[in-house]
Parts: sequence; structure tokens; C-alpha cells
Amino acid sequence: MSVTISKSAQQNEELNLLKSTQAIIKEALGHLGYPHQFYELIKEPLRTLTVRIPVRMDDGTVRVFTGYRAQHNDAVGPTKGGVRFHPDVTEDEVKALSIWMSLKCGIVNIPYGGGKGGIVCDPRELSFRELERLSRGYVRAISQIVGPAKDIPAPDVFTNPQIMAWMLDEYDHIREFDSPGFITGKPLVLGGSHGRETATAKGVTICIEEAAKRKGIDIQGAKVVIQGFGNAGSYLAKFMHDAGAKVIGISDAYGALYDPDGLDIDYLLDRRDSFGTVTKLFKNTITNRELLELPCDILVPAAIGNQITSANAHRINAKVVVEAANGPTTWEGTRILTERGILLVPDVLASAGGVTVSYFEWVQNNQGYYWSEEEVESKLRDVLVRAFENVYNMSQQRKVNMRLAAYMVGIRKLAEANRIRGWV
Ligand code: GLU
Repeated sequence: MSVTISKSAQQNEELNLLKSTQAIIKEALGHLGYPHQFYELIKEPLRTLTVRIPVRMDDGTVRVFTGYRAQHNDAVGPTKGGVRFHPDVTEDEVKALSIWMSLKCGIVNIPYGGGKGGIVCDPRELSFRELERLSRGYVRAISQIVGPAKDIPAPDVFTNPQIMAWMLDEYDHIREFDSPGFITGKPLVLGGSHGRETATAKGVTICIEEAAKRKGIDIQGAKVVIQGFGNAGSYLAKFMHDAGAKVIGISDAYGALYDPDGLDIDYLLDRRDSFGTVTKLFKNTITNRELLELPCDILVPAAIGNQITSANAHRINAKVVVEAANGPTTWEGTRILTERGILLVPDVLASAGGVTVSYFEWVQNNQGYYWSEEEVESKLRDVLVRAFENVYNMSQQRKVNMRLAAYMVGIRKLAEANRIRGWV
């Protein structure tokens, strides 16, 4: 009995995103030889705001939603990061996600600190107008602490360009002037950037190519499994399919599809709804757990956190795992995969394409001059290939896994900016 209890306590510890992020930061700082007071400064966001948002529902009643905005550290520049709408959002999760944004921005070397927001809600159960009122209410609640030179929101899980448009409109009303640089991931017509919609998946594709080169995997004919069919997962399936890979498995929140000869990706893309749901249309499905353990060359968790843990990491059957989601593999899971010779390309590197093109969007807004899709794509490729090299080289030189190496690369710039400002 007592064994079961302590085991589940250990599991809970493993699954707490904030605690495990802090543990990895400590290890990274140890390798870099930075003082403990720097850990004290960066182990939590400098500011976390909790808000309660009253929303008039379509039936006339009022529901109060809880939201958060965490700003990890603004020594490098304004804080930056998405807003997620999800029933499982917690304060600790938003805090951890804001720390990861600081790391991402450091790894791809863009002039931001990390931020993150979230609202505890299930957007699948809200009407279009309720969603609009909730999005506007959130901006009213956080308007004092955000802005184009302060903290810049963007899309994340279950938020999209339409939601960014409402948020921008609300912010413009409050400030009484046009400030397209307040938010990124907006529709093109409001100052969005070409290539932002596909940026996360493009970044993951570039990381897959770089990892495949180092592992001697030919993308042509490579077997790819993708967990999640939202923004990142669905575009990635398309890019991999177009590059000649065989996408043998995909999934959504309700189940997974598997075909050893390759799935008809164009058909699935055509049938998915705006929340990335498609498996409900099929009878022969497997579970998300089974999907993760399929034999393949490249496994891409592109859904939610804590999917590869100490409970299943020893059954993962891929040569390379590339994380398109935030936090899909726990620290324990990372260690097990590494011991088994599986190359893991961590979220803070692999999913940094989104924030990189968000930065390009903000630059275009600031200069009022807009780039072509080709220009955005070639700049994104330059940034990510360099970032991959830096992290890979760090992991080779220090003989650490790619996650720890990525933390070390990401923390260096953060530490330098904090030191030179006299904060530590
Ligand atoms: N939500 C995305 C991420 O986690 C993008 C953030 C942004 O574009 O600011 O990286």
C-alpha cells in the first residue's frame, strides 16, 4: 500500500511542469557555473497576474472565468508568449510556460523575455459570441500590464487569428490608437505576417531535417507518427507528407488513426474541424497511448504536456522524438529516451518557429513595411538551423541531452542581460 502511495507521489512530482522546469534549470546553472542567486531570480516569473472575467452568456446568465498572465523576465526585452484557452489551465502551468518562452527566445536569439497567458475554459463549449466576449474581457483585465513594448500575447492551444483580432480590437479601443504590435498571430488584414500560421510546423520540419541528417535518416519514405492534429500537428503532417515521408499515425483528443502504409493526409486535413478533431469520423481507431508506442523513425508529440513519462518512455519505438507541443516529455522521460539512444529534440527548440515568426510580425508592425512569404521562410530557416546547431553542439561538447543543452543555451543570454542590468 505504502509503495503505491509513494509511487503516485513521485509521479505527481514528475508531472508538475513548474517543479520539473526548476529542477532542469538548477542542473543547467550547475553546468554553466552560475551563482545560486540567479536561480532565485529566474525560478518563477517576476510577475503573475490572476484575473476573474465576468462574461454574459448567450442565455443571459453571467459566468466568471479565471485567467492568468505570467511575465517571466523582461531583462532582454518585452515579454512574449501565447494565451491558451483550456479547461486544464493552472497557474503553475502558465508560470512554467512563461519560463519556457524565455528559454525559447534565448535559443533563437530574439530580443524578448518570456510571457504566457491562459484562461480556464473549454472553448469547444462556447458559442462564437461568447468566445468573443471572453477574449475581450481578458484583454480588459490585463490591459495595464501588456503592450507592444511591454508584453505581447499570441495564439497557443485553442486560440487562433480570430481571437487575436478581437483582442487587438479591444486593446485599440482602450488605448485609443492603432497598435498592431500589441499582439501577434493576427489575421493578415490587421497586420499579421505571411507564414505565421504555418510557422510552428515549419520550425518543427526544419528541426526534423536537422535531426534526420545527424541520425542518417532519409526523410523520403521515413515513417512519421504525429500526436495531435491542431495548428502544429496538421500542418506538420502536410509538410512531412509533401516531403515524401510516410505519415503512418495521427491523433486528436478523442483517439488515433494508424495505417502502416501511410494515411491520406489531404483527406484528413479536409475533414478536420477548427479544433483539430477528425478521428470521430472513423471506426477503426487506436488510443493515444498506443499511437505513441508505434514503431516509427520520427515521433512528434504535437498535442499537450506530460505524454511521454517514466511510465511509457521505455516503450517508445522511434529513432527521433521531436517535440512540437510544450512539455510533452517529462524530465524523467527525457532521461529514459536518452539512455535508450533516442535523440530528443526539445520543445524549447523544436517549437520555437512560432515565436520566431511572431517576432518577424512585430518587426513588420513596428516598421510598417511587410515582407513576402519567401522572405519570412528563408529568415525562419536561417534562425532555426543556427539554433539547432548551437544546441546540438552544446549537447555534444558537454555530453548532456538536448533538453539540458537547450536550457543552457537559452539561459546564457538571459543571465547576461540580468547581470548587466545589475539585477543579480
Ligand atoms: N504559443 C506559441 C509558443 O508557445 C507562440 C508564442 C508567440 O508567438 O509569442 O511558442
